[in-house]
Amino acid sequence: MKTIKDLNIDNKKVIIRCDFNVPIKEGEIVDDTRIVGALPTIQYCIDRNCKIILLSHLGRVKEEADLAKNDLSPVADRLSKLLKKDILFSEKTRGKELEAIVDSLQGGDIVLVQNTRYEDLDGKKESKNDEELGAYWASLGEVFINDAFGTIHRAHASNVGIASHLESGVGFLIEKELTALSILDNPERPFVVVLGGAKVADKIGVIENLVTKADKILIGGGMAFTFLKAKGYEIGKSLLDEENLEFCRKVLQEYPDKIVLPIDFAVTNEFTNDEEYRTKSAYQIDKDEMGLDIGEETRTLYESILKTAKNVIWNGPLGVYEFDQYKKNTDELLKYVVENQIKTILGGGDIVAAATKAGFKDKVYHASTGGGATLEYLEGKKLPGLEAIK
Ligand code: AMP
Repeated sequence: MKTIKDLNIDNKKVIIRCDFNVPIKEGEIVDDTRIVGALPTIQYCIDRNCKIILLSHLGRVKEEADLAKNDLSPVADRLSKLLKKDILFSEKTRGKELEAIVDSLQGGDIVLVQNTRYEDLDGKKESKNDEELGAYWASLGEVFINDAFGTIHRAHASNVGIASHLESGVGFLIEKELTALSILDNPERPFVVVLGGAKVADKIGVIENLVTKADKILIGGGMAFTFLKAKGYEIGKSLLDEENLEFCRKVLQEYPDKIVLPIDFAVTNEFTNDEEYRTKSAYQIDKDEMGLDIGEETRTLYESILKTAKNVIWNGPLGVYEFDQYKKNTDELLKYVVENQIKTILGGGDIVAAATKAGFKDKVYHASTGGGATLEYLEGKKLPGLEAIK
């Protein structure tokens, strides 16, 4: 994989696709982690006297009313503060105004272009990788750097489109993600996978791809109940993914020693944080009960398996972590892998949100910034954003 360091970018016009898809409320950036994550690549280009053109999407643009909601200009202000330099902002995603700004750039200057998805208003040109749009954006620069890991699993005009017209490489953020994830291509053993979250459907690809590679797959979260139902257990009102019962049955039959299911749960009668819960064995759930977290015996069991693990990938929380009472076992297990220095990769999305909330995000071996992208990597799929660079 070509990285920014493999390319001669000195004094050139460099287009960097960043992931500035940050939460913004009333014009204020609530969390600038993604902007901070892009700084090493931008700074590297400043140091090489490049003329820098930054592109990013923000949210979704389906109708006129989405434009103002997804205005990228607050990111220019934040970048300016972080880099301690002026950042130009182009209100337009194409045309004379943008071209004039690009022409005026001196070495080290930066322009941030308005949200690439403004182009989606006219026939989804960005999201459908419109050929002419990709070629147009590419015409603004001489080299392309993709540093937006969160969209690497999508073929958009601002990543795949541009990459197919210019000499390209990945930036430091994508390089870091891929370096961490690539240990899973040839993992050290025991290699343990922890899978939680809501639906079996979202994790089928991951299970299919990793079940042969992993030594154990520890199941938690809402998806555990479809596996238990497949074994004939009463699961009451717990989450059930009926369509994938047969899949669970098959996996359990083929890999009875690899798939590890919870042995107890925190159960209650309503999906709320306000009612007290009880801990029950997996085979004692009543018809009017639902499990909203794994139980402590399960956590102890999972800790005993993780204790000797050399590599761990964890995707999805083990309980409804949005409710205080049901985040306990996810938090405790995160603490366990951190305190015991078990090499753990958190696969983006909700488990990273849970780790951030509990203060463990910066203490694990790697917390991925891309939920969907990481999942597709774990499914063994080819990522279009990377293929275009190869
Ligand atoms: P995912 O996006 O598939 O990783 O799912 C994350 C979601 O799974 C979170 O919103 C959790 O609240 C939810 N979840 C985890 N455990 C359970 C459970 N036992 N019942 C219902 N939802 C759950």
